[in-house]
Amino acid sequence: MGKITGFLEFQRLEEPHEPPADRKHHWHEFIQHLSDEDAKVQAARCMDCGIPFCQHGCPVNNIIPDWNDLVYKSDWKKALDSLLSTNNFPEFTGRICPAPCEAACTLGIGDNPVGIKSLEHKIIDKGWEEGWVVPQPPEHMTGKRVAIIGSGPSGLAAAQQLARTGHAVTVFEKNDRPGGLLRYGIPDFKLEKSHIDRRVQQMQAEGVTFRCNTAVALTWDGAASISADDLVAEFDAVVLAGGSETPRDLPIPGRELDGVHFALEFLPQQNHVNAGDKVRQQIHASGKHVVVIGGGDTGSDCIGTSNRQGAQSVANFELFPMPPEHENKPLIWPYWPLKLRTSSSHEEGCLRDWAIGTKRFNDDGHGKVKSLTASRLKLEHGRMVEIPGTDFDVPAELILLAMGFVSPRQSMLEAFNVERTPRGTVKATDDIINGYRTNVDKIFAAGDMRRGQSLVVWGIREGRQCARAVDEYLMGYSELPR
Ligand SMILES: Cc1cc2nc3c(=O)[nH]c(=O)nc-3n(C[C@H](O)[C@H](O)[C@H](O)COP(=O)(O)OP(=O)(O)OC[C@H]3O[C@@H](n4cnc5c(N)ncnc54)[C@H](O)[C@@H]3O)c2cc1C
Ligand code: SF4
Repeated sequence: MGKITGFLEFQRLEEPHEPPADRKHHWHEFIQHLSDEDAKVQAARCMDCGIPFCQHGCPVNNIIPDWNDLVYKSDWKKALDSLLSTNNFPEFTGRICPAPCEAACTLGIGDNPVGIKSLEHKIIDKGWEEGWVVPQPPEHMTGKRVAIIGSGPSGLAAAQQLARTGHAVTVFEKNDRPGGLLRYGIPDFKLEKSHIDRRVQQMQAEGVTFRCNTAVALTWDGAASISADDLVAEFDAVVLAGGSETPRDLPIPGRELDGVHFALEFLPQQNHVNAGDKVRQQIHASGKHVVVIGGGDTGSDCIGTSNRQGAQSVANFELFPMPPEHENKPLIWPYWPLKLRTSSSHEEGCLRDWAIGTKRFNDDGHGKVKSLTASRLKLEHGRMVEIPGTDFDVPAELILLAMGFVSPRQSMLEAFNVERTPRGTVKATDDIINGYRTNVDKIFAAGDMRRGQSLVVWGIREGRQCARAVDEYLMGYSELPR
């Protein structure tokens, strides 16, 4: 433990960030990491509570109290080693994880929790700046070949773990660049794509081959196709890490109108533009009244992107009632609380409204959407029901549907003939014994494709654990961490 009285002396400090009015004019990250001195003070707030619930709250079980202590003692290199022992990509989670660890922090019961995510951000950024994050190629090759389908956080984590243990790993990705939703989905202002490029270079130096523009058992615009049978014949094991890509739709009158889009038709286009690509007929919010339907991460990213594109107004409608501003801590701690969350994109400006049911999208007479009609809802016997006589119209020239994802794409799973759950995810457990294995020999699954729509940190956990399962299958034993 660093400073015994640290939590009594020091307040939680948020990371320095640009004010909303300034950051709305560019696409870069606007949150900086803490200075060395501030990070030490924040680490000193860890109270060495004895049972680190934070470590349990973190899906990759980061060894948080240890790095807090090491940061307090300015032993940055050891702090980095500890962090990398459980998390392949802390530069992603240190930026965009919602930090369930902090909801589980013991100090958080009666005070503001330790700034765990800001310390993770600081440790890994310092690691890269100091040149301590280097490729770790294996000493011996096993002669086994593994194919990984999908280069999101789960595919990347599985690939890195398997390559480091000596397997020849090829990652197949249907998009033109690796990264999954980290690359095409999550806006650049939350996660600049140079972080992914740097990791991909490290992984290539560790022996991973990336085959982008290659769709497995799927026809994908501009990509070559490779069949499931060919892959199974060529590789000793295959990991399905293709994410959960089927969005939830809103099949109401007017859904077919021009100007009504899924969030993932809209967000990746801006990622492409920021990468210097040409996008023909980009879906753009400039000068428009935008309505984002759905109040989660994806909806919030649509708000931030619309504001940066110069929308005239942005409204965000959520089906459920407004959650409480503060959680009932004695009831919920150390679990993830239901409470009102205001993201940096919300802070940048939008009208938020809850308990709204959208009834139809209205035509401008030329096949384009011009407004939507909605009504207010109330919770009755566990269901949201319409309050009669509350219909209203709002102008809307761009409507973005951000209501979550129902399942993975099914065609690839059909081609591999793997069993699925009633939700359409791949049927495989996350058990220590025989976890991540599908019903088909050689075929494994990880990330959103197995667990359903989730978080980056869960993707990393699944990729790591799946890698161990694959290694055990190929070699009969594994020294990879669980
Ligand atoms: C807009 C948005 C914002 C989000 N923001 C956050 C956030 O701030 N924090 C957070 O923790 N989580 C966030 N999430 C959730 C998070 O991004 C996902 O949970 C995570 O990326 C899942 O990782 P994955 O590796 O399982 O799949 P994905 O990241 O979805 O990657 C799957 C990859 O597989 C590829 N693929 C699929 N099928 C094939 C095929 N047949 N052949 C070849 N390639 C294929 C896809 O092209 C894709 O690149 C967000 C999600 C969205 C949609
Ligand atoms: S990965 Fe997420 S949950 Fe784990 S320590 Fe980092 S911020 Fe917390």
